[in-house]
Amino acid sequence: MSDSLLIRGARAIATCDDRRTRLQGASILTDGRRIAAVGDESAMSIPEGTRVIDASRHVVVPGLVNTHHHFYQTLTRAVPEAQNSKLFDWLITHYEIWRGVTREAVHAGAMVGLGELLLTGCTTTTDHHYLFPRQADPHLIDEEFRAAATLGIRFHPTRGSMSRGKSMGGLPPDDVCQTEDEILRDSERVIDAFHDPSPLAMTRVALAPCSPFSVTEDLMRETARLARDRGVRIHTHLSETADEDAYCLETYGKRPVALMEDLGWIGDDVWFAHCVMINDDEVRLFAATGTGVAHCPASNMRLGSGIAPIPRLLAAGAPVGLGVDGSASNDSSNMLGELRLALLLHRVTGGADAIGVDDVLWMATRGGARVLGRDDIGSIEVGKAADLALFNVDCIGHAGAVHDPIAGLLLCGDSSIADCVVCNGETVVEEGQLVRADEGGIVEKANAIARGLVEQSRDKAAREPLGRPR
Ligand SMILES: [Zn+2]
Repeated sequence: MSDSLLIRGARAIATCDDRRTRLQGASILTDGRRIAAVGDESAMSIPEGTRVIDASRHVVVPGLVNTHHHFYQTLTRAVPEAQNSKLFDWLITHYEIWRGVTREAVHAGAMVGLGELLLTGCTTTTDHHYLFPRQADPHLIDEEFRAAATLGIRFHPTRGSMSRGKSMGGLPPDDVCQTEDEILRDSERVIDAFHDPSPLAMTRVALAPCSPFSVTEDLMRETARLARDRGVRIHTHLSETADEDAYCLETYGKRPVALMEDLGWIGDDVWFAHCVMINDDEVRLFAATGTGVAHCPASNMRLGSGIAPIPRLLAAGAPVGLGVDGSASNDSSNMLGELRLALLLHRVTGGADAIGVDDVLWMATRGGARVLGRDDIGSIEVGKAADLALFNVDCIGHAGAVHDPIAGLLLCGDSSIADCVVCNGETVVEEGQLVRADEGGIVEKANAIARGLVEQSRDKAAREPLGRPR
């Protein structure tokens, strides 16, 4: 039996190659883990036993790339106490719940986050896991790798960290922070165990202190040193809100980006989530140095943080990817939905031509690949990874959008569940369902753990009414 696939006669293909080529009626042949041919099927040499997938009703895009997330937060979606809070209050409320997270919870959250990402066309994702409560197993992040291997998604997570608890002037409670020694030791362990630098790698690791208000300057410096020694990338939240700007000015005497510059955190091996508050000089600095940005429109809207200057970053040539961010501030891992929000958000202030469909598609594919430092994913070209998402546009939500079905994928905003998703040459979503796991089982488990986590924190708050931070 051949391990090749023929995606036959697609309604439309957005290749996201350098020329942003679009094709109609073309086919894609995969050969194991890579794309072997793109174009007219009659010119292809198709091995016997190749599986054929009819794409005549589908728009095909490169597997989408998600550049920022926190899977464990899927267990605290839409919590009533934090539905209308801005970032710092939202965090303070959630820390009280998150401190109860266990290995089982991290696995359940990852299955939900990764499952929804795959179902909405994402084939490569990162995750920023920075929560290691003192009472929990210190190897929580290993559960994320286990979930990704089960579902068959390309996984590029970050070993996150928090070291500046409340007693040191930080935002998080002390008991969800670790010492710097613990963090650096475990970061090395995670790199040793999971980082694969080879082409088409299914797992790569980056290091990610959580934010300027939850780690020390020392940890930022030491993390960058370790990452550069080991050839892995670095990531953190930056310039997300006006409160963060004020915190950095008061605590460090400088803006967040200036702080990062002083700590050696500017460069083409660095990407920051959000960057809502950056100014024109900082946009130019990012472009000149190849410093990347993970743009998270849903989260920025949900928390009322503001609008990141994405059109300016793109015009300047800075690397920009798209991220769904944590599912407690989105409250979703819907990747295609995030593209539609990115398209619409910038028009609110920038006008109808602020950003186009192709710019957003580029961000979610090639932009994301660049931000994660990968040249083997993000486009439908010979030799690239066989990562593809097929969306059926023969449905009522797309009816009438026959003139430009690729644009319709973002503009019509109908269901964003992919009909078929191929990752690393394997179909991992078929007929809109996960192939390798039972969706019902994932949901049931996550709901049970989510109920337990919130009940536990409410019980604790009821016992210690004065101890609950507000
Ligand atoms: Zn985040």
